[in-house]
Amino acid sequence: MKRKSWLAWLIMLAAFFFVINKEPQLVTNTATTVKQTTVKLQPYFYLVRASINNRLKTPFAKSTAQAASTDATPIETPLKNLTTSNTYQYYFENDVPANVRQVFQQAVTVYNQTGLVKLTPGSGTTNKNKVTFFVYDKKLTNPASQTVELGNGGPTTLAWNHYAVNSGRAGLNLAYPHIAIKKSVAIHELGHALGLAHSNAESSVMYPLDQGLTTLAPADLAGLRNIYDK
Ligand SMILES: [Zn+2]
Repeated sequence: MKRKSWLAWLIMLAAFFFVINKEPQLVTNTATTVKQTTVKLQPYFYLVRASINNRLKTPFAKSTAQAASTDATPIETPLKNLTTSNTYQYYFENDVPANVRQVFQQAVTVYNQTGLVKLTPGSGTTNKNKVTFFVYDKKLTNPASQTVELGNGGPTTLAWNHYAVNSGRAGLNLAYPHIAIKKSVAIHELGHALGLAHSNAESSVMYPLDQGLTTLAPADLAGLRNIYDK
């Protein structure tokens, strides 16, 4: 009896190794499943990337059409139909000068005063919302175009199902310090980082051309509510 069950074990063991040798992909699949399950516990399952450059190339008219059907300022694609936390940590890249920090700090205050988002200083962790403030230097390449670039920004989200973690970026263009280092431009770019897209409403801080606005319009608040208060 004892010898028989020992033999049965030996046969089963041999069969097991036979399966592994014959079908190595079976074992690999098992490993992959476990890994994905682990990943699913964190909001990292698939990646949705905002292309800041592509968005900037989009003609203004396009976002104008999008805004027509609703009063609320439109939402940037990476945050559309997703839920995300309204708390953010923000930090400045090392080369950001004091005057730029100052205007971004003022922009942070404007958004915090809405009560819809809460931004606090800190470098953030990988699975929490954060905003990085930066500067860059980009001269006008096409003198025929009537506009210069004052800044850029946008959200970058990692999403799992309907939950997104946003690593937003907002930057000012140092090539034009006199017109770019302004509270209104900082508010506009931080708006992008938090998920607001361009609006055709001239009262909106998300109008594509700087008008010196430093107060969020009701439509901008409605846009933020659509992202953070649902
Ligand atoms: Zn913009």
